[in-house]
Amino acid sequence: MSNKTEKSDQGWQGCLSSEQYNVMRKHGTERAFSGKYADCKTEGIYVCAGCGEELFTSETKFDSGTGWPSYFQAINETAVEETVDNALGMSRTEVHCRKCGSHLGHVFPDGPQPTGLRYCINSASLKLDKK
Ligand code: FE
Repeated sequence: MSNKTEKSDQGWQGCLSSEQYNVMRKHGTERAFSGKYADCKTEGIYVCAGCGEELFTSETKFDSGTGWPSYFQAINETAVEETVDNALGMSRTEVHCRKCGSHLGHVFPDGPQPTGLRYCINSASLKLDKK
């Protein structure tokens, strides 16, 4: 049995807001500083808004100044998957939830130590489970 969450396009439209659907299923990007978690410093675990999988923790969140919630590492090595995204004439690394395939954001090699990575994630793709 696959442990992935699969839904039809119609199924996703039915359970996500239009903003979430645009970001998570259509690879959209929310406007900078528009998302609710950009400046959030509350402690807890950020789970996938599509399937509830744990993706990031507040302990790895940092202030990137970009207007999107940013983390230097995912919660573990299997929660998120990466693919090369050549859209918009740029080569970027796209990040999505392994369990349900929903688009989360991108990862860039200009983050802080210890990883040097910056996971630039849409607030729309996340839900914070407070500690
Ligand atoms: Fe998910």
